[in-house]
Amino acid sequence: MIPLREHGWQSQPWQWHLSHAVRDSETLLTALRLPSSSVDTPFPVLVPWPYLAAMTPGDPDDPLLRQVLPLRDELDVVGGYVTDPLDEQTKAPIKGVLHKYEGRVLVITTAACAIHCRYCFRRHFPYDTFRINRSDWQDIVGYIRSKPDIREVILSGGDPLVANDQLLSWIAHQLASIDHVDTLRLHTRLPVVVPQRVCPELVEWISKTSLKVVVVIHANHANEMTQQVTDAAHRLTRAGATLLNQSVLLKDVNDDADNLSDLSRRLFHAGVLPYYLHLLDPVTGTHHFEVPADDGRDLLTEMSRQLPGYLVPKLVRELPGAGAKESIPLNSK
Ligand SMILES: *Cc1c(COP(=O)(O)O)cnc(C)c1O
Ligand code: SF4
Repeated sequence: MIPLREHGWQSQPWQWHLSHAVRDSETLLTALRLPSSSVDTPFPVLVPWPYLAAMTPGDPDDPLLRQVLPLRDELDVVGGYVTDPLDEQTKAPIKGVLHKYEGRVLVITTAACAIHCRYCFRRHFPYDTFRINRSDWQDIVGYIRSKPDIREVILSGGDPLVANDQLLSWIAHQLASIDHVDTLRLHTRLPVVVPQRVCPELVEWISKTSLKVVVVIHANHANEMTQQVTDAAHRLTRAGATLLNQSVLLKDVNDDADNLSDLSRRLFHAGVLPYYLHLLDPVTGTHHFEVPADDGRDLLTEMSRQLPGYLVPKLVRELPGAGAKESIPLNSK
């Protein structure tokens, strides 16, 4: 087991986990009793302790470690891999808002994340220009109020649950006052990487809002669904939220049908339904995670043999300029 356990870190509040996360490869590898190595990268290491504790000490190929440890492969320059593959930076009608899809609007709630995932499609995102405060929120609420087609507001980031519950409950309150908005969706990795984030304050505003709340968690591997994560998911469900999971298909992390099926079963056990399995976006520095679309099809085909239909996620990819994610059909067998 990982050190620091004896210091009672499990019971520390989520804010502690955000400020005390591991910020360098050496600490990470030492905690796992692995030989040190480090890669100079502009996207720094960030790993909260509860996530680290779910890794297997002594295993250099641990699928959770691989998601957070910078490798030399990141520095390779590969054709077709760019910094903004989705062309998002030209899609903002007002600061913080991405209105690409009908009926839904995505708001970059905060620049920060609780973990830095090496495959992240936002790793080159100019978050400094997207830092938004309460007065920006007034403008955003005004924009949403002026667009009667918007039924669902999606809080993304960064990770929206890095924001505090005082701000989030204020946002929920503002949005609930808009007639045409009925759903608030949060896309967050926090319940998985710091399950302590599902604290009484969060549960309280979710329970009280008149909006339908959807929480899309981001778990990629069955080992991420620990008992603490399962308990956190149950707290959200009891608060009235609908829980879905989105994964990214990652080479040498989860490109294995048995593991993905296991993830689906563990999610279901936690009250979470699988939603999307994303193909990797071609972002500079992530090519070593790429799984070809055809292999993704084979994996999903095998999963649909192993699982009831409701536990098979939809295989999708994002295409710049498209009005929705592209759904990738399975092999017919
Ligand atoms: C994925 C995405 C959405 C939501 O898409 P769903 O298919 O409804 O999950 C909305 N806005 C943006 C910018 C997105 O990338
Ligand atoms: S939590 Fe999400 S946005 Fe943040 S680094 Fe990981 S994948 Fe990217």
